[in-house]
Amino acid sequence: MNKKKGRVFSGARPTGRQHLGNYLGAIKNYVDLQKDYDCVYCIVDLHALTTVEDTLNLKQNTNEMVLDWLAAGVNPEETIVFVQSHVPEVTELHTILSMVTPLGKLTDLPTFKEKVRMQPENVNYGLVGYPVLMTADIVLYKADVVPVGIDQAPHLEFAREIVRSFNHRFNTKVLIEPQMKNTVIPKVLGIDGKEKMGKSLNNHIELAATAEETKARVLDMVTDPARIKRTDPGNPDICNVFTMHKIFSPQADIDMVNVECRRAGIGCVECKTLYAKNLNQELKPFREKRSELASKKSLVDEILQDGSNRARKIAQKTMQEVREAVQLP
Ligand code: ADP
Repeated sequence: MNKKKGRVFSGARPTGRQHLGNYLGAIKNYVDLQKDYDCVYCIVDLHALTTVEDTLNLKQNTNEMVLDWLAAGVNPEETIVFVQSHVPEVTELHTILSMVTPLGKLTDLPTFKEKVRMQPENVNYGLVGYPVLMTADIVLYKADVVPVGIDQAPHLEFAREIVRSFNHRFNTKVLIEPQMKNTVIPKVLGIDGKEKMGKSLNNHIELAATAEETKARVLDMVTDPARIKRTDPGNPDICNVFTMHKIFSPQADIDMVNVECRRAGIGCVECKTLYAKNLNQELKPFREKRSELASKKSLVDEILQDGSNRARKIAQKTMQEVREAVQLP
């Protein structure tokens, strides 16, 4: 086995079946990181409790998400895949870290303010502490590196501050300040061609959909709005179908669409049918693998059990060091 560069931690809320946006924006990166790092991927079910809608079907959503990860190439033999609440040490560390975290900073964070706007009827204490729990997740497993997109960068910077503050107050070096691994996260648009692809907007295409379902969703995709009649020339540069062709289609098809759309040589239905065919082709191995994994009924539970055993070993060691540093009697 080649020598790895360090440990990566990343957490994701259990959102069920994953879509193309999750794949291109997160899962693909999870798979790639395994080459160079020891990876710890956590399904953050406790974080999900801060919002009400996320708590529906937590178990099933976890199961579906893990199946997608595995089918896409997350390898549980090497990578630790586990559920946050299965390692309760994280809640103890969260409590301890909360003592060195200034409340004003938490309530000033734009993400907190955004949540208050979104769910004014449920501004719970957990929402305020979200970044502290996130910090506990990262440092409990002594992660060296956390992959973050630009919008998450302030959270990681904050996590680093909490770590510094803890180490300073208790005069220790027990906790590791995680490094940020800046990750370019493409913004995948939904089938409406306008908003970010996501479940809540129902503008998504699930990785595990059938070929027929995928085709139907693709045929619903919004194209260049200025192209009204089949005979109008289109502009692929502003068409989300062309963006997706560039990701999933062979070069010859991309070149053909690029030329023929502009001179109305092909229509949008033809273009979308071709994209659906190519997308289905690309997803075929994933879907076959997923069905095979899903047919093994207790597989995901076993993987998560093994993952939490491995995660807990690391967590218990960290907590022993933390308790000593804090001089808890
Ligand atoms: P979370 O709230 O935990 O980010 P999401 O389901 O919204 O949960 O996203 C999970 C991951 O998938 C995140 O890393 C996010 O950046 C990525 N992701 C979700 N939707 C998209 C999208 N449309 N384009 C790119 N990345 C996306």
